[in-house]
Amino acid sequence: MAVYDIVVIGGGAAGLSAAAAAAGLGLSCVVIDRMGGGGELMNLGSLHDLDEPLTGPDLAARLLENAVTAGAELEIGEVTGLAREGEGWRVSTDDGHHDARAVILAIGLAPGTLGLANEDDYEARGLSHCATCDGPLYRGEPVVVAGADRWAALEAQELSAGCSEVTLVTQGGVAPASDGFTVISGRIVALEGARGLDAVTVQPDDGSAPKRVTTQAVFVQTGRRPAGGFALQGLACGPDGRLVTDDARQTSLPGLYAAGDARTGAERTLGFAMEDGRRAAAGALAPKLNPLGKSAG
Ligand SMILES: Cc1cc2nc3c(=O)[nH]c(=O)nc-3n(C[C@H](O)[C@H](O)[C@H](O)COP(=O)(O)OP(=O)(O)OC[C@H]3O[C@@H](n4cnc5c(N)ncnc54)[C@H](O)[C@@H]3O)c2cc1C
Repeated sequence: MAVYDIVVIGGGAAGLSAAAAAAGLGLSCVVIDRMGGGGELMNLGSLHDLDEPLTGPDLAARLLENAVTAGAELEIGEVTGLAREGEGWRVSTDDGHHDARAVILAIGLAPGTLGLANEDDYEARGLSHCATCDGPLYRGEPVVVAGADRWAALEAQELSAGCSEVTLVTQGGVAPASDGFTVISGRIVALEGARGLDAVTVQPDDGSAPKRVTTQAVFVQTGRRPAGGFALQGLACGPDGRLVTDDARQTSLPGLYAAGDARTGAERTLGFAMEDGRRAAAGALAPKLNPLGKSAG
């Protein structure tokens, strides 16, 4: 068992940026990630909104290097528990535990669901959560994207380059501008197919008759929430299931911070996630500089 100033749970853009900032500020820090780091970035091709052209894995490699160079440790593992331990926290993993003065939850969002009873039957047999990874499997076939945010629309646009027909179903969101794909304002209410997916039924929002849409795959970009079953009990969450923090990124529990997509109100962009990570690290540093909470002067 090791004792750290900060344990960062999740090694995506937010977690790695938090770790680089924390280690750069002289704090001892370990990042624990089940996949070894990168998070969502590992699923992304060319990135938008950055100052230079980069792929997701390029940026992940750069953030990992920054964190390690600054002195942060990286551990591959699944975090299974988080509990108060004295003045700090105990983080349990599938391989032991670490104690820390502060913890930063940078756990991102788990893959979304459609909320249908037989959904599990189609997981990896037509249901996918990554267009960059699985899109090429459906070249020349019709596919559906479920979700209406900017990233869902981008996935639909990217898929339209190789798939015969792309339909975006909004799932309660606002219909995006369509660029090479068809938009249906409605919800998927049934999945169909014996050996894989053959079609979905969509209930349009305007109350008109359900539509059957032939498709070999549904790329699910809706219903995503933080998967923090190990930690979220007792933590204040927004209506979207994401964690509520104050300006310093501290959650409703002392010494427990949240950053990136897992934090309610955070714009789901890389720039935001990286800045959030840095702010959480600075927030976690403040009590160490001023342990008795005395005001300066
Ligand atoms: C399709 C798509 C395209 C996008 N394109 C862009 C773009 O072009 N430009 C842009 O700015 N933004 C883009 N985004 C948004 C951007 O990718 C995210 O905002 C950002 O990656 C979130 O980073 P994060 O660190 O908060 O979470 P994540 O990257 O999700 O990292 C969370 C990490 O925590 C780990 N984790 C969770 N729970 C545990 C646990 N119990 N134990 C161990 N590890 C755990 C996960 O495995 C993961 O590695 C896109 C998003 C999507 C979905």
